[in-house]
Amino acid sequence: MSGYALDPRTTVLIGGITSGLMALVLSLLARATPLPVPGLWTWVGGAWLVFSALLLVGLRDWVAHLATVTMGNAALILGYILWLAGTHRHLGQRIRWTPWLVAWALATAAVSWFIFVEPSFRMRVVIVASFCAVLSAHHALLLVRHPRAVRFGQSIGTSTTCTWLFLLSAVYGARALHAAWYPQGDIGLLTPDAVQIVYTGSFTICNLMLVIGYATMASDHVRACIEDQATHDPLTGGLNRQALMDSLERERARSARTGQPFSVAMLDVDHFKKINDSHGHPTGDRVLVHLCRRMSALVRPNDVVARYGGEEFVIVMPETTLGAAWQAGQRILTQAVQVDGQPLPPFTISIGLAQWSSADNSVETVIARADAALYAAKANGRNRVEVGGSAISV
Ligand code: GH3
Ligand code: MG
Ligand code: MG
Repeated sequence: MSGYALDPRTTVLIGGITSGLMALVLSLLARATPLPVPGLWTWVGGAWLVFSALLLVGLRDWVAHLATVTMGNAALILGYILWLAGTHRHLGQRIRWTPWLVAWALATAAVSWFIFVEPSFRMRVVIVASFCAVLSAHHALLLVRHPRAVRFGQSIGTSTTCTWLFLLSAVYGARALHAAWYPQGDIGLLTPDAVQIVYTGSFTICNLMLVIGYATMASDHVRACIEDQATHDPLTGGLNRQALMDSLERERARSARTGQPFSVAMLDVDHFKKINDSHGHPTGDRVLVHLCRRMSALVRPNDVVARYGGEEFVIVMPETTLGAAWQAGQRILTQAVQVDGQPLPPFTISIGLAQWSSADNSVETVIARADAALYAAKANGRNRVEVGGSAISV
């Protein structure tokens, strides 16, 4: 009789059933998601494997060792490898399958050896727990090191997944070291012993929290995509008009607070209609995409490039005087139109500049002044930069 309220079999089986429910929730989420989430179905596959593994492990001594020990451990490790593959896909990378699958096959063979040929619970624990510890730590580091980790603090899904991967790695690592250092006596996986209860309980909780982490990463991804669609122009990837107006309002408020100037450039492709007429609309589209990309690369990181409509763009330059904006305008005029050997027709642009002034009543008036300067650039022969008259400061 066990002196503990919980025995390892109960924690593993309850964990198994809960993992099954979580795998079901993740599957339903993957079916219902309004936008595809890279890697989500791979995480779902991993969750079902971990569920099967926990069920098999929980049936230890009730059914054949081949099912519980060999297949249970194989399913568990493969489930973790699938979770890693899902994260790779989510981050736009591909996992290197061969080394992981070779390691998986070797670990499964070693586990089988230490149950059928030379039965040793201690050796099985050392092999499986150290493999899972390394795999989970590698998985966590993949997330931490990825460039998207810059936004780590903002993504609850990534931070949750990372935290529980590190914890899972610590639980497995501690278990592997414990088994390696101390004789395990008669203890088996489901022996009602304090170490086994803490171990099985902790790793069950980590597995559950990881599925929650993947679900949260998926919903973070969908939210980010929807936010992106709401603020960006689908053709060029620049900000759309609504996001431009929001950005101008923010600059206006900042300028009122700090007294810092900001400037606005309005740009228009010269004789764009002719490009469409001679080369076709799709080539015209590619010119717009190219121009927007070049402009984004040429401006400062805090500058905002937006598509105002048709072949017109607006650049908001925070903390920039008209003089500095003039230099930026000249740079864009000459460099943004370079096609770098791409199959695009040669083209030119005209630019109108205006600086925000405290006499401007609203952001629309600074836009109107940049537009008037653009009109002057067109009237004065195109392929040039013109500066709008400043509103009178009060
Ligand atoms: P100007 O030098 O005076 O600016 O002459 P323009 O031909 O560039 O100006 P106009 O306003 O006469 O023509 C703009 C053209 O831009 C007309 C329209 O069909 C085209 N256009 C607007 N949006 C798009 C788009 O998304 N893709 C393509 N390919 N063409 C577009
Ligand atoms: Mg034009
Ligand atoms: Mg135009």
